[in-house]
Amino acid sequence: MANIAFIGLGNMGSPMAINLINAGHQVCVFDLSEQAIAQVVAQGATTHAKASDCVKGADFIISMLPAGKHVETVYLSENGLINHIAKGALVIDSSTIDSATSINVANGLLEKDINFIDAPVSGGVGGAIAGTLSFMVGGSETDFNQAKAILDAMGKNVFHAGEHGAGQVAKACNNMLLSVLMLATSEALQLGISNGLDAKVLSNIMSNSSGSNWTLDVYNPCPGVMENVPSSNDYQGGFMVDLMAKDLGLAMDTAIKSHSSTPMGALARSLYAMHAANGNGAKDFSSAFELFSQVSTK
Ligand code: NAD
Repeated sequence: MANIAFIGLGNMGSPMAINLINAGHQVCVFDLSEQAIAQVVAQGATTHAKASDCVKGADFIISMLPAGKHVETVYLSENGLINHIAKGALVIDSSTIDSATSINVANGLLEKDINFIDAPVSGGVGGAIAGTLSFMVGGSETDFNQAKAILDAMGKNVFHAGEHGAGQVAKACNNMLLSVLMLATSEALQLGISNGLDAKVLSNIMSNSSGSNWTLDVYNPCPGVMENVPSSNDYQGGFMVDLMAKDLGLAMDTAIKSHSSTPMGALARSLYAMHAANGNGAKDFSSAFELFSQVSTK
């Protein structure tokens, strides 16, 4: 059993913290929302009026915050947790942020003998609730090994991607690929539908042919092809367009900094930004199918 402080109890953080409690850990939680705190305290967490009191004496500090600016402020600002976390403790930041900020936070904390790994996740809210997230870890081998048992309580796959920032790079690569697959799958399905094919028949053919991929096989974007996926529930639930647009922005920043050519990712970023700007930000990212159905039926 470990002493854990958990900062950021949103859609992802709350169920992750609850899984740690259920695994027998002592978890002290903090969020700006009192309601979010109350929900996790009801499941067995403790809390304090300030995050700084939660982290005192904690072996592990886990954060699940919206963006890089929140992570940097929470840890490194004048009133940041850097001044309260015990030497030798391990900070695990599972937020999806840019790798440069992750490395900056890691270096700042290391100067005070506080260890750090970036450990962004894949698997969405469903995976957070079920405890089946994938973690992509950037940091030293020693810190990875120390974190593994904690991460195992919240996920089923824990990968060591490399040094600090590598987890964030892996996450950016994965979500860029996912977005491109979703758009290409939607485009191919709509081409078939516009030429008289039944979406279920075409999906079955492509799933068992060389076009097979996750967005086609288990998360089909065409309404009615599969049950229990967002496309058959008016694109509610799942992974929001706004979050995919944010992640594609991070992927593009990563590409620019490394002089990498990512034309497919750049197109995907533009299409998701346009889709979000058209009022679809809160829908699941498979709603990108609508971009093509609107074009094809004109
Ligand atoms: P969310 O907006 O639901 O939750 C963020 C929480 O952080 C909120 O409860 C907010 O009050 C809290 N917060 C903000 N600033 C704070 C501060 N200074 N101190 C304490 N708490 C603070 O977001 P989410 O969906 O839980 O996502 C969290 C992170 O996980 C993001 O980086 C996101 O990109 C990533 N992610 C999300 C999903 C998903 O499907 N939602 C999937 C994978 C990764």
